[in-house]
Amino acid sequence: MKPPKCAVCSKKFRIGKKEGALVAFKLNAEEIVKKEEMEKKGYLGHPVGEVWFCNKHLKLARTYTHLSVIEAFKEIRRIQEENKSNSQRIKDYFYSFMK
Ligand SMILES: [Zn+2]
Repeated sequence: MKPPKCAVCSKKFRIGKKEGALVAFKLNAEEIVKKEEMEKKGYLGHPVGEVWFCNKHLKLARTYTHLSVIEAFKEIRRIQEENKSNSQRIKDYFYSFMK
């Protein structure tokens, strides 16, 4: 199991402190094969298709569990970019009054 660290903001947290959680995404064909191989070998690694998220990004991550990890991350990144540009627009708006 990988140590808990948010896949979006890289925030590290402790298990059992309710600072974040593992989110299981839909497995794609490749991941299903990987998971089966791991189970056959009895390998106790990090669960395939499961990713850590801090509380701040947990809700966002959980809206994409119907997608594979790769697809979900495309969406999460897009949302993050949109949020960034929104806050930039708000900043620009306020700065325009200060000129
Ligand atoms: Zn986070």
